[in-house]
Amino acid sequence: IYPSLEGKTYVVMGVINQRSIAWGIARALDAAGASLAFTYVGERFKAPLEKLGQELSRPASYYTCDVTSDEEIEQVFQTIHADHGKISGIAHSIAFADKEALRGEFSGVTREQFAQALDISAYSLTAVVKAAKDFFTEDASVITLTYLGGEKMVPNYNVMGVAKAALDASVRYLAAEYGQQGVRVNAISAGPIRTVSAKGVGDFNSILDSIEERAPLHRNVTTEQIGQSGLFLLSQMSSGVTGEILHVDSGFHIL
Ligand code: NAD
Repeated sequence: IYPSLEGKTYVVMGVINQRSIAWGIARALDAAGASLAFTYVGERFKAPLEKLGQELSRPASYYTCDVTSDEEIEQVFQTIHADHGKISGIAHSIAFADKEALRGEFSGVTREQFAQALDISAYSLTAVVKAAKDFFTEDASVITLTYLGGEKMVPNYNVMGVAKAALDASVRYLAAEYGQQGVRVNAISAGPIRTVSAKGVGDFNSILDSIEERAPLHRNVTTEQIGQSGLFLLSQMSSGVTGEILHVDSGFHIL
């Protein structure tokens, strides 16, 4: 049932541990035969990531990249290209906001918190696509991870909702621009999953509970499910799809 991705290189940005959504995507790509290049931030996370990578079917490579730095982003794609050749796709699974801004009133956000959340969680996608531009295969595919809080008000999601709205719009503008070279850009709007980042969102448990109570499928999604949908969007199975926000959320967004 899998498309074969043998001989193809995908860049996976944003695995911090086995609960990361990016890890679910990495596992699905690995099962389909892809070679993986991981980017991480923070030297102390390198060894645990390499250990996790040993669970994969073939050796992966690891690169440091803080997306607040244009130099680091440009450098990392040059190095990955030198090591692996052309890049068939990128999974961008990165976000950050000051925890203090993810609870209480939205307007409590400061200028600095707002700028940082938008920089890391939205602008970084554009910076990454730009830096990879010359290294893409002709049919390359890029995905990012978004959330319903960018379309609707979700309590406590606050400035991250504004960042996701900017990210969703970036997907459409990038899809239009890079479609000219055959590159597709899409997003997965994931239902809530307990990860390191999710812990920062105030009263996250009640968001999880509301899915079980109200979503059409009455269950929360798993990183495996996001991984399967990521594989679809990153492979030629979705060759006619670009600029799309695919909701993988047990149907919650239709309510
Ligand atoms: P996670 O904490 O496992 O992953 C977030 C990643 O962002 C980490 O690997 C972290 O190192 C990375 N990151 C943060 N700042 C960075 C920087 N300056 N440079 C490079 N990397 C940086 O959490 P996750 O839930 O897997 O999050 C992945 C993506 O999925 C995020 O965009 C998140 O908003 C999105 N998402 C999560 C949920 C959820 O409920 N968990 C739902 C919808 C969308």
